[in-house]
Amino acid sequence: MAEKEANTHVVLFPLPGQGHIGSMLKLAQLLSTAGFYVTFVHTERNYRRYLLTSTSFHVPKFRFRTIPDGFPDDDSRSPLPFLELQESLDTKCRGHYRELLVAVDDQEEWPPVTCVVADQALPLSLEVPDELGIPVMILAPHSACSILTSYSIPELIRGGELPIPDGANMDELLQGVLGLEGIVRRRDMSIRSAKSIQDPFLQFEVKMSKNLPRGRALILNTTESIDSLSLRHIRSICPTTYALGPFHVLLRNIKDESHSASLSEEDRSCIAWLDSKPNKSAVYVSFGSLAAMPREAFLEFQQGLLDSGYYFLWVIRPDMVEGGLEESELTASEQRYFVKWAPQEEVLAHPAVGCFLTHSGWNSTLESIFAGVPMICWPFFADQLINSRFASEVWKIALDMKDLCGRSHVERMVKEVMSGEKGEELRNSSCEMADRVKKSAEEGGSSYANFKELVGHIKSLSL
Ligand code: UDP
Repeated sequence: MAEKEANTHVVLFPLPGQGHIGSMLKLAQLLSTAGFYVTFVHTERNYRRYLLTSTSFHVPKFRFRTIPDGFPDDDSRSPLPFLELQESLDTKCRGHYRELLVAVDDQEEWPPVTCVVADQALPLSLEVPDELGIPVMILAPHSACSILTSYSIPELIRGGELPIPDGANMDELLQGVLGLEGIVRRRDMSIRSAKSIQDPFLQFEVKMSKNLPRGRALILNTTESIDSLSLRHIRSICPTTYALGPFHVLLRNIKDESHSASLSEEDRSCIAWLDSKPNKSAVYVSFGSLAAMPREAFLEFQQGLLDSGYYFLWVIRPDMVEGGLEESELTASEQRYFVKWAPQEEVLAHPAVGCFLTHSGWNSTLESIFAGVPMICWPFFADQLINSRFASEVWKIALDMKDLCGRSHVERMVKEVMSGEKGEELRNSSCEMADRVKKSAEEGGSSYANFKELVGHIKSLSL
């Protein structure tokens, strides 16, 4: 047994974006606890940012390797446009990735690569090892419900449900989403604005979904207790699916520590601000690492928060408001605290936080579920649109504010969750779900057991 572990070398390559890097790095640390050699691939740009913001990371048999992203170093756009990034990695960086996978590092005496964990949202990460004959497993770092909606796009096109015609009723339910009929409306689809089947985002989703069954196994950052319905249907496409989430909880249970994957510096002063507030008196507002909004929407939103009368802690990244903001536009008030980047897991665990106003990114959703904090969802794009639908309609732990962004809506929803009867219901279901999720990630729970099975599967590949 020890022999197999000693020779098992796993390479993990995430899409270069905060959410994907975060979940992949947690999976990498989990795999490292099994005694495997682990190589984590960053782009050079992200690795530079990572080194600036994260505490040093010295784990035996764990290393970072970098490849370029194909953009000039002085390209300061943040984030880099999604499809351009895909194209650049695909055409300019394929050779670098190939070299990294076949390189023999005599000096460090690392064994050859025995398994790659590829990111479903980065086709290159699985195509290259596949061509080289290296076994690939696929991590889909987004939600199980979004996997099913993406997977169903070809069927929705065949059935005439996509693209959505102009003027269609956006609240109408879609019939062709595998296993989720009766749940997903037109407005919950990530590619709801695609006007033709040639739409590049729609085409990308189709490509991603074709890749889904291509690995030896599919790894998901969710648990049976959150997603049994979606998992049942995903297993009809990918029989070997390991659901071992939330990764951050499992990692803490197995290793008792977790290294930050943050590409931005965390401003911890917000914890002291929260310390000075009564229990469940503050709303935590964050839209993740990518979402951006027009200035008018920001100002409207800010007014709604102020009108609610509750304290709020808001993460405002420098690139979050299109066209930027003047300092004077951030209304000075005792009621609010702004940071550029927060220690989010710690904030969500803080007793002063009564509600999370979120963009519904999957990591943020999982972190809120684990903390038992009810959500108000204001999704922007991609899987956020379906995650918010599930959080409100299936799990009943959130209100979905999708497409309603006026100040009065913001005010009403905040009041409803912070103090209304509905808020009480959401808080109760959030606490129950948090309990179930905690148990899944403990010894004897499903995520814990699925992780052990995954480790056994990876070991068997080095025989
Ligand atoms: N995050 C953080 N501090 C912040 C905002 C976000 O640490 O101020 C982390 C958050 O905890 C989560 C990740 O960034 O792990 C965002 O991932 P998610 O999937 O929610 O959204 P994305 O950024 O991919 O849209």
